Amino acid sequence: MADMRIGIVGCAGRMGRMLVGEVAAAEGCVIAGGTEAPGSAAIGKDVAALAGLDPVGIAVGDDPEALFAAVDTVIDFTAPAASVHHAALAAAARCALVIGTTGLDADDDAKIAEAAADTAIVIAANTSVGVTLLTALVRQVAGILGDDYDIEIVEMHHHHKVDAPSGTALALGRAAAAGRGVDFEATARLSREGRTGARPRGEIGFATLRGGDVVGEHEVIFAGPGERIVLGHIAGSRQLFARGALRATLWTRGQAPGLYSMADVLGLAD
Ligand code: NAD
Repeated sequence: MADMRIGIVGCAGRMGRMLVGEVAAAEGCVIAGGTEAPGSAAIGKDVAALAGLDPVGIAVGDDPEALFAAVDTVIDFTAPAASVHHAALAAAARCALVIGTTGLDADDDAKIAEAAADTAIVIAANTSVGVTLLTALVRQVAGILGDDYDIEIVEMHHHHKVDAPSGTALALGRAAAAGRGVDFEATARLSREGRTGARPRGEIGFATLRGGDVVGEHEVIFAGPGERIVLGHIAGSRQLFARGALRATLWTRGQAPGLYSMADVLGLAD
Protein backbone atom coordinates (compact mmCIF):
# COMPACT_ATOMS: atom_id res chain seq x y z
CA MET A 1 0.00 0.00 0.00
CA ALA A 2 1.28 3.48 -0.84
CA ASP A 3 2.26 5.72 2.04
CA MET A 4 -0.60 7.79 3.40
CA ARG A 5 -0.13 11.47 2.51
CA ILE A 6 -0.72 13.67 5.53
CA GLY A 7 -1.16 17.45 5.66
CA ILE A 8 -0.90 19.54 8.82
CA VAL A 9 -2.71 22.85 9.10
CA GLY A 10 -1.26 25.13 11.77
CA CYS A 11 2.04 23.27 11.32
CA ALA A 12 4.10 25.96 13.09
CA GLY A 13 2.02 25.84 16.28
CA ARG A 14 3.13 23.98 19.41
CA MET A 15 1.02 20.92 18.56
CA GLY A 16 1.58 21.40 14.81
CA ARG A 17 5.36 21.07 15.16
CA MET A 18 4.96 18.04 17.39
CA LEU A 19 2.62 16.45 14.84
CA VAL A 20 5.16 17.00 12.06
CA GLY A 21 7.68 15.12 14.22
CA GLU A 22 5.26 12.24 14.89
CA VAL A 23 4.28 11.84 11.23
CA ALA A 24 7.91 12.04 10.07
CA ALA A 25 8.88 9.27 12.49
CA ALA A 26 5.93 6.96 11.70
CA GLU A 27 5.82 4.06 9.24
CA GLY A 28 3.33 4.08 6.39
CA CYS A 29 2.81 7.83 6.09
CA VAL A 30 4.58 10.95 4.87
CA ILE A 31 4.28 14.68 5.44
CA ALA A 32 2.80 15.97 2.21
CA GLY A 33 2.27 19.62 3.16
CA GLY A 34 1.50 22.14 5.84
CA THR A 35 -0.19 25.51 6.13
CA GLU A 36 -0.20 28.39 8.54
CA ALA A 37 -2.48 31.33 9.17
CA PRO A 38 -2.24 34.08 6.51
CA GLY A 39 0.55 36.49 7.47
CA SER A 40 2.38 33.97 9.67
CA ALA A 41 6.17 34.33 9.71
CA ALA A 42 6.38 30.55 9.14
CA ILE A 43 5.03 30.75 5.58
CA GLY A 44 7.72 29.77 3.05
CA LYS A 45 9.87 28.01 5.65
CA ASP A 46 10.52 24.27 5.49
CA VAL A 47 7.80 22.30 7.33
CA ALA A 48 10.23 19.82 8.89
CA ALA A 49 12.97 22.33 9.71
CA LEU A 50 10.39 24.31 11.75
CA ALA A 51 9.88 21.16 13.80
CA GLY A 52 13.62 20.84 14.40
CA LEU A 53 14.07 18.06 11.80
CA ASP A 54 16.14 17.81 8.63
CA PRO A 55 14.47 19.83 5.83
CA VAL A 56 12.19 17.84 3.48
CA GLY A 57 11.86 20.47 0.75
CA ILE A 58 8.19 21.29 1.52
CA ALA A 59 7.47 24.95 2.24
CA VAL A 60 4.71 26.01 4.65
CA GLY A 61 1.83 27.36 2.55
CA ASP A 62 -1.17 29.60 3.17
CA ASP A 63 -3.60 27.89 0.75
CA PRO A 64 -5.49 25.17 2.65
CA GLU A 65 -7.70 24.42 -0.39
CA ALA A 66 -4.63 23.30 -2.35
CA LEU A 67 -3.46 21.23 0.64
CA PHE A 68 -6.79 19.41 1.02
CA ALA A 69 -6.75 18.58 -2.72
CA ALA A 70 -3.27 17.03 -2.47
CA VAL A 71 -3.38 14.79 0.61
CA ASP A 72 -5.30 11.82 2.08
CA THR A 73 -5.87 13.23 5.58
CA VAL A 74 -5.30 16.59 7.27
CA ILE A 75 -4.58 17.09 10.97
CA ASP A 76 -5.89 20.31 12.49
CA PHE A 77 -4.85 21.66 15.91
CA THR A 78 -5.50 25.36 15.23
CA ALA A 79 -8.40 27.56 16.38
CA PRO A 80 -12.21 27.14 16.23
CA ALA A 81 -12.93 29.40 13.22
CA ALA A 82 -10.06 27.85 11.27
CA SER A 83 -11.21 24.29 12.05
CA VAL A 84 -14.77 25.04 10.87
CA HIS A 85 -13.36 26.44 7.60
CA HIS A 86 -11.06 23.42 7.21
CA ALA A 87 -14.00 21.02 7.74
CA ALA A 88 -15.83 22.61 4.79
CA LEU A 89 -12.70 22.32 2.63
CA ALA A 90 -12.28 18.67 3.68
CA ALA A 91 -15.87 17.94 2.66
CA ALA A 92 -15.44 19.63 -0.73
CA ALA A 93 -12.19 17.74 -1.43
CA ARG A 94 -13.49 14.43 0.08
CA CYS A 95 -10.35 14.44 2.23
CA ALA A 96 -10.39 13.01 5.77
CA LEU A 97 -9.77 15.36 8.69
CA VAL A 98 -8.68 14.94 12.32
CA ILE A 99 -9.58 17.93 14.51
CA GLY A 100 -7.95 18.39 17.92
CA THR A 101 -8.83 22.06 18.33
CA THR A 102 -10.69 22.85 21.57
CA GLY A 103 -13.09 25.64 22.49
CA LEU A 104 -15.58 24.89 19.69
CA ASP A 105 -19.13 26.07 20.40
CA ALA A 106 -22.40 24.31 19.48
CA ASP A 107 -22.60 26.23 16.19
CA ASP A 108 -19.06 25.16 15.24
CA ASP A 109 -19.90 21.55 16.16
CA ALA A 110 -23.01 21.67 13.95
CA LYS A 111 -21.03 22.95 10.95
CA ILE A 112 -18.39 20.27 11.40
CA ALA A 113 -21.10 17.59 11.67
CA GLU A 114 -22.58 18.89 8.41
CA ALA A 115 -19.20 18.61 6.68
CA ALA A 116 -18.86 15.05 7.99
CA ALA A 117 -21.76 14.01 5.74
CA ASP A 118 -19.26 14.09 2.86
CA THR A 119 -16.02 12.87 4.45
CA ALA A 120 -14.62 11.13 7.52
CA ILE A 121 -13.92 13.60 10.35
CA VAL A 122 -12.51 12.58 13.73
CA ILE A 123 -12.98 15.22 16.40
CA ALA A 124 -11.47 14.93 19.88
CA ALA A 125 -10.80 17.61 22.49
CA ASN A 126 -8.37 15.12 24.02
CA THR A 127 -6.59 12.79 21.62
CA SER A 128 -4.73 10.87 24.34
CA VAL A 129 -5.33 7.13 24.10
CA GLY A 130 -5.16 6.88 27.91
CA VAL A 131 -7.82 9.55 28.49
CA THR A 132 -10.07 7.91 25.91
CA LEU A 133 -9.77 4.62 27.80
CA LEU A 134 -10.29 6.36 31.15
CA THR A 135 -13.47 7.98 29.83
CA ALA A 136 -14.86 4.60 28.75
CA LEU A 137 -13.94 3.06 32.13
CA VAL A 138 -15.58 5.91 34.07
CA ARG A 139 -18.80 5.42 32.16
CA GLN A 140 -18.75 1.70 32.83
CA VAL A 141 -17.88 2.00 36.54
CA ALA A 142 -20.46 4.75 37.13
CA GLY A 143 -23.13 2.51 35.62
CA ILE A 144 -22.17 -0.43 37.83
CA LEU A 145 -21.85 1.47 41.11
CA GLY A 146 -24.91 3.70 41.07
CA ASP A 147 -25.33 6.73 43.33
CA ASP A 148 -24.39 5.03 46.62
CA TYR A 149 -20.95 6.12 45.43
CA ASP A 150 -20.29 9.88 45.33
CA ILE A 151 -18.39 10.93 42.21
CA GLU A 152 -15.75 13.66 42.56
CA ILE A 153 -13.48 14.71 39.70
CA VAL A 154 -10.18 16.42 40.54
CA GLU A 155 -7.96 17.93 37.89
CA MET A 156 -4.66 19.84 37.87
CA HIS A 157 -3.08 21.85 35.07
CA HIS A 158 -0.26 24.39 34.59
CA HIS A 159 -0.76 27.98 35.68
CA HIS A 160 -1.31 29.30 32.12
CA LYS A 161 -4.61 27.44 31.68
CA VAL A 162 -7.49 29.90 31.31
CA ASP A 163 -10.58 27.69 31.72
CA ALA A 164 -11.85 25.53 34.58
CA PRO A 165 -12.76 22.75 35.01
CA SER A 166 -10.78 21.43 32.04
CA GLY A 167 -12.65 20.20 28.97
CA THR A 168 -11.37 16.71 29.77
CA ALA A 169 -12.72 16.87 33.36
CA LEU A 170 -16.11 17.91 31.97
CA ALA A 171 -16.01 15.08 29.45
CA LEU A 172 -15.26 12.63 32.29
CA GLY A 173 -18.22 14.05 34.21
CA ARG A 174 -20.45 13.60 31.16
CA ALA A 175 -19.25 10.01 30.83
CA ALA A 176 -20.09 9.37 34.50
CA ALA A 177 -23.55 10.90 34.04
CA ALA A 178 -24.13 8.84 30.90
CA GLY A 179 -23.11 5.69 32.79
CA ARG A 180 -25.64 6.49 35.48
CA GLY A 181 -28.27 7.47 32.96
CA VAL A 182 -28.69 10.99 34.41
CA ASP A 183 -28.56 14.49 32.95
CA PHE A 184 -25.06 15.93 33.42
CA GLU A 185 -26.13 19.58 33.57
CA ALA A 186 -28.63 18.79 36.34
CA THR A 187 -26.15 16.86 38.50
CA ALA A 188 -22.80 18.63 37.96
CA ARG A 189 -21.38 20.86 40.71
CA LEU A 190 -18.45 22.64 39.03
CA SER A 191 -17.02 24.24 42.22
CA ARG A 192 -17.82 24.73 45.93
CA GLU A 193 -17.11 27.36 48.57
CA GLY A 194 -18.63 28.71 51.77
CA ARG A 195 -21.59 27.07 53.52
CA THR A 196 -22.49 24.60 50.86
CA GLY A 197 -24.72 22.36 52.97
CA ALA A 198 -24.43 18.59 52.84
CA ARG A 199 -23.57 16.94 49.57
CA PRO A 200 -26.73 16.10 47.60
CA ARG A 201 -27.00 12.45 46.62
CA GLY A 202 -26.21 11.91 42.96
CA GLU A 203 -24.14 15.07 42.57
CA ILE A 204 -21.07 14.91 40.31
CA GLY A 205 -18.54 17.26 41.92
CA PHE A 206 -15.43 18.93 40.52
CA ALA A 207 -12.30 20.43 42.07
CA THR A 208 -9.74 22.38 40.07
CA LEU A 209 -6.05 22.81 40.94
CA ARG A 210 -3.68 25.11 39.00
CA GLY A 211 0.07 25.44 39.25
CA GLY A 212 3.54 25.08 37.77
CA ASP A 213 3.98 23.30 34.48
CA VAL A 214 1.63 20.35 35.07
CA VAL A 215 0.60 19.06 31.61
CA GLY A 216 -2.69 17.59 32.82
CA GLU A 217 -3.83 15.26 35.62
CA HIS A 218 -7.32 13.89 36.15
CA GLU A 219 -8.73 11.71 38.90
CA VAL A 220 -12.26 10.37 39.13
CA ILE A 221 -13.11 9.27 42.67
CA PHE A 222 -16.05 7.01 43.47
CA ALA A 223 -16.44 7.41 47.23
CA GLY A 224 -18.75 4.76 48.64
CA PRO A 225 -19.57 3.15 51.95
CA GLY A 226 -16.25 1.92 53.37
CA GLU A 227 -14.26 2.18 50.13
CA ARG A 228 -13.07 4.48 47.38
CA ILE A 229 -12.36 3.58 43.79
CA VAL A 230 -10.00 6.01 42.10
CA LEU A 231 -9.45 6.05 38.34
CA GLY A 232 -6.91 8.48 36.97
CA HIS A 233 -4.67 9.68 34.18
CA ILE A 234 -1.42 11.63 34.28
CA ALA A 235 -0.15 13.29 31.12
CA GLY A 236 3.64 13.48 31.20
CA SER A 237 4.07 15.43 27.97
CA ARG A 238 1.98 16.99 25.22
CA GLN A 239 3.50 14.45 22.86
CA LEU A 240 0.88 11.89 23.84
CA PHE A 241 -1.77 14.11 22.22
CA ALA A 242 0.23 14.13 18.97
CA ARG A 243 0.69 10.35 19.17
CA GLY A 244 -3.07 9.82 19.62
CA ALA A 245 -3.82 12.21 16.76
CA LEU A 246 -1.48 10.22 14.51
CA ARG A 247 -3.30 7.01 15.50
CA ALA A 248 -6.62 8.66 14.57
CA THR A 249 -5.12 9.86 11.29
CA LEU A 250 -3.94 6.39 10.26
CA TRP A 251 -7.38 5.02 11.25
CA THR A 252 -9.18 7.37 8.79
CA ARG A 253 -7.83 5.41 5.83
CA GLY A 254 -10.82 3.85 4.07
CA GLN A 255 -13.40 5.13 6.61
CA ALA A 256 -16.84 6.06 5.26
CA PRO A 257 -17.99 9.67 5.64
CA GLY A 258 -19.16 10.43 9.18
CA LEU A 259 -18.29 12.14 12.43
CA TYR A 260 -16.06 9.99 14.63
CA SER A 261 -14.51 10.21 18.10
CA MET A 262 -11.36 8.78 19.67
CA ALA A 263 -13.61 6.06 21.11
CA ASP A 264 -14.39 5.03 17.52
CA VAL A 265 -10.68 5.06 16.71
CA LEU A 266 -9.95 2.72 19.63
CA GLY A 267 -13.01 0.53 18.97
CA LEU A 268 -14.64 1.55 22.26
CA ALA A 269 -17.76 3.28 20.91
CA ASP A 270 -21.18 1.76 21.65
P1 NAD B 1 -0.70 27.20 19.11
O1 NAD B 1 -1.25 28.58 19.23
O2 NAD B 1 0.72 26.96 19.48
O3 NAD B 1 -0.89 26.68 17.59
C1 NAD B 1 -2.01 26.95 16.79
C2 NAD B 1 -1.48 27.21 15.39
O4 NAD B 1 -2.57 27.28 14.49
C3 NAD B 1 -0.71 28.54 15.30
O5 NAD B 1 0.56 28.32 14.70
C4 NAD B 1 -1.63 29.39 14.42
O6 NAD B 1 -0.91 30.32 13.62
C5 NAD B 1 -2.28 28.30 13.56
N1 NAD B 1 -3.49 28.77 12.87
C6 NAD B 1 -4.49 29.56 13.35
N2 NAD B 1 -5.39 29.78 12.38
C7 NAD B 1 -4.95 29.12 11.28
C8 NAD B 1 -5.45 28.97 9.94
N3 NAD B 1 -6.57 29.57 9.54
N4 NAD B 1 -4.74 28.21 9.08
C9 NAD B 1 -3.60 27.59 9.46
N5 NAD B 1 -3.07 27.72 10.69
C10 NAD B 1 -3.75 28.47 11.59
O7 NAD B 1 -1.67 26.28 19.95
P2 NAD B 1 -1.47 24.76 20.41
O8 NAD B 1 -1.02 24.73 21.80
O9 NAD B 1 -0.70 24.01 19.37
O10 NAD B 1 -3.00 24.26 20.41
C11 NAD B 1 -3.80 24.32 19.24
C12 NAD B 1 -5.19 23.80 19.55
O11 NAD B 1 -5.13 22.42 19.92
C13 NAD B 1 -5.87 24.49 20.76
O12 NAD B 1 -7.25 24.58 20.51
C14 NAD B 1 -5.59 23.53 21.90
O13 NAD B 1 -6.51 23.66 22.98
C15 NAD B 1 -5.74 22.23 21.19
N6 NAD B 1 -5.13 21.07 21.86
C16 NAD B 1 -5.82 19.91 21.79
C17 NAD B 1 -5.29 18.76 22.32
C18 NAD B 1 -6.04 17.46 22.15
O14 NAD B 1 -5.67 16.45 22.75
N7 NAD B 1 -7.05 17.43 21.30
C19 NAD B 1 -4.03 18.78 22.94
C20 NAD B 1 -3.34 19.99 22.99
C21 NAD B 1 -3.90 21.14 22.42
